[in-house]
Amino acid sequence: MKENFVSGRRVVVMGLGESGRAAAELLIQKGASVIIRDSYLNERIDQMARQLQLRGARVETQPAGFTPCRFDLGVLSPGIDPQVPLVRQLRRARVPVVGEVELAARFCDTPVVAVTGTNGKSTTTELVAAALTAGGLRTTACGNLGVPFSDVVRGGDFYNVITLEVSSFQLETIEHFRPRVAVYLNFTPDHLDRYPTLAAYRQAKIRIFMNQTAADFAVVNPACELPALAAKKITISADHDDADYTFRDGALYAGGQKILMQEATNLRGPHNAENQLAALAVADLYGVARPDAIAALRAYRALPHRCELVRELDGVTYINDSKATNIDALEKALAGQTRPVVLIAGGKDKGFDFAPLKALMVKKARAVVAIGEVQNQLVRAWGQHVPCHRAADLAEAVSLGRRLAKPGDTVLLSPGCSSYDMFKNFADRGQQFKELVAKLS
Ligand code: ADP
Repeated sequence: MKENFVSGRRVVVMGLGESGRAAAELLIQKGASVIIRDSYLNERIDQMARQLQLRGARVETQPAGFTPCRFDLGVLSPGIDPQVPLVRQLRRARVPVVGEVELAARFCDTPVVAVTGTNGKSTTTELVAAALTAGGLRTTACGNLGVPFSDVVRGGDFYNVITLEVSSFQLETIEHFRPRVAVYLNFTPDHLDRYPTLAAYRQAKIRIFMNQTAADFAVVNPACELPALAAKKITISADHDDADYTFRDGALYAGGQKILMQEATNLRGPHNAENQLAALAVADLYGVARPDAIAALRAYRALPHRCELVRELDGVTYINDSKATNIDALEKALAGQTRPVVLIAGGKDKGFDFAPLKALMVKKARAVVAIGEVQNQLVRAWGQHVPCHRAADLAEAVSLGRRLAKPGDTVLLSPGCSSYDMFKNFADRGQQFKELVAKLS
């Protein structure tokens, strides 16, 4: 059992989102004195704050009156930049600051398979958990994808292994977290609104390997630029034929042996093949019998908002890929389309350069409907090559999309941007799209 390093200590939890709430509850369970700081109270946060207060936590909403030396530890939510003054004050006062993943890991004796990458984390985390479960192992898919790691640890259920999705924001604040298996799917530009450079984003992501030893495993994509790894390396790739797990002519291979045609599964495209290969690699490490792993891959259905078929109407197919919050995901969705596309794209500005997608637009798009903060950037980047239209909101975008599409076309919502300029989150954006499409008659 790991040492309880928070019992009787004063801990400040910064940010009361889902992971802040989970961290606070774990800390309370472990006997810490918990103070939560969040300057932004909405109805949901307010309700969580009241529940935590009933369990003995203190909630502070005023930015003033912060005395760092009152605390023994800070727990930072992934949504908060570690450069904010609050965190700097704590660090100056030599108060250690960790994130929710690090906190949970310090109370967790169960081995962890951690999955990161710019895209495909949630899909792969679920695929890995499904394959391990099919092999008779007790696991749960958690972390960035839904249930926070701290909730799983606090729940105390027995698992052979925990399958954990980790984002770069969560990896920024780990110290000792050491996954037995680290899966690193891919790396492409993202979050340039949070990181000063792409190199800084990469630095955060590759922390997943930093505490691994020769006893651990790293399942990696050889296309990624990585430092020398202490862990044993296993490679997965849809492009490199010399990888341990590969994808050729529509089939998944392991060690040169053909395992499964992708068309026998519900996922499509080389990017999804890499997610499937990663799951196969982890299943092999855990000794899952091949037929069990294959059965899991065949049964798996994509999560909502990932190239999700919404409806066919008048010969036009409507696809919701609201989870495409960066250029690479948009590119993969567009490249995978076999019919002319009316693309609905745009959202909050994350510092992307959209020009490199010009050639693909010309090849795939009949028209683009641009929405959100980056609307003008999209029109500037692609407008001379494909017809680009502006829409004030998603309702206008859907009705424009419908007018522009011809029978046999696809209307694809694949924003390539985050949603926070117009929506609560990507799920809200995708849900609104589905409702608008359902209402078309
Ligand atoms: P994440 O959790 O990393 O955001 P998801 O599995 O939720 O990943 O998928 C997010 C978006 O990325 C979706 O639009 C999906 O179609 C696309 N995607 C999924 N896997 C990959 C991959 N391996 N490479 C690139 N894009 C991917």
